[in-house]
Amino acid sequence: MPTPTSRATLTQLGEFGLIERMKRRTGRSRTPVLRGIGDDAAVIRLNHRQLLLLSTDVLIEGIHFDPSTSSMEDIGYKAVVSNLSDIAAMGGTPQYIMVALAVPPSQTSASIDRLYDGLVRACRHYKVQLVGGDTSASPRSLFLCVSITGLCRDRRFLARGGARIGDLLYVTGTLGDSLCGLRILQQRARSQSASRSNASSKRHLGFLVNRHLHPVARVGEGLLLASQRLATAALDLSDGLSGDIHHLCQESRVGAEVEAEKLPISPGCRWYATLDRTDPTHFALLGGEDYELLFTVPPDKQEKVTRLGQKHGFRFTCIGRIRPRRFGIRVKALNGSSWHLAPASYQHFRQTPPLKGNIR
Ligand code: ADP
Ligand code: MG
Repeated sequence: MPTPTSRATLTQLGEFGLIERMKRRTGRSRTPVLRGIGDDAAVIRLNHRQLLLLSTDVLIEGIHFDPSTSSMEDIGYKAVVSNLSDIAAMGGTPQYIMVALAVPPSQTSASIDRLYDGLVRACRHYKVQLVGGDTSASPRSLFLCVSITGLCRDRRFLARGGARIGDLLYVTGTLGDSLCGLRILQQRARSQSASRSNASSKRHLGFLVNRHLHPVARVGEGLLLASQRLATAALDLSDGLSGDIHHLCQESRVGAEVEAEKLPISPGCRWYATLDRTDPTHFALLGGEDYELLFTVPPDKQEKVTRLGQKHGFRFTCIGRIRPRRFGIRVKALNGSSWHLAPASYQHFRQTPPLKGNIR
């Protein structure tokens, strides 16, 4: 029987509506699957001590990357990091990677060498092994699919569904940098230099571009939060806080309040926002591909999070609090005004690309 929305176009459904339909068709997960569709990685029991984590990510030329703003090496590096980030969000230790590739025949073998230089560099850096994949010709653009496995100690994984009312909302690192970096690269590609060439501008430009091209997977942070049982829920910020926070709240059946002035924003992002005459909060809420972790902490563990964060040199910032579901998801400004945080970050099928991180 067709469902009432079976004739809906993908533009009407959006990426997340489509995933919800797939989830309904797939049915409930059965033992030994502890988490199936709906989290950053699937969780499968291996034995009474260990859990296997599995995740996969597709990267398409023109949607996830643009060869005019990223080198092949950068594309390969970031493809691995975006996968590692999903394992980090589950609190796991990443293990093995497989790479499926579809390449237009016009592409040179040297360019695929560069792609593999990037893939291998990221694998070495994070101590994961590339153990296989698949290769095909592609009619037009480059297509990349990276899959990853990770391991986790029994019951020590982080899921999206564990946040409780009253928990504190935290993020790692700083938000919005990747989107600023992408905008700078796009302006450069159109040869509209955003730079004023003094030393401080150069430093900010270099920082932001690097944050876009070489994001960091917060593997150590995720492991600490899971092994010390500090977080009740977590996910990684791949699409942008304004959208990803909805996934955490939906899975946990709660609402949330974000305090705008608490959002961790780098000096580079503030500098770019001033040049762009934009409120930097806008970049922090909407920008995708920062690959920071969003997680929730019970109030009685706040002191331990601060202490262990400092001990390990991890940047953890409390940005708000989990509220009842009926509260919705809201942002509060310093002057006391507040507004509903609509999921305005990237969603496939809803936006016409040029590029995933781009909100303009
Ligand atoms: P992330 O941004 O963390 O990579 P996604 O938004 O891509 O997560 O996916 C959300 C959930 O939906 C994940 O659990 C993922 O495994 C699942 N999912 C996405 N696409 C499909 C698909 N085509 N078939 C089955 N499950 C899917
Ligand atoms: Mg994720």
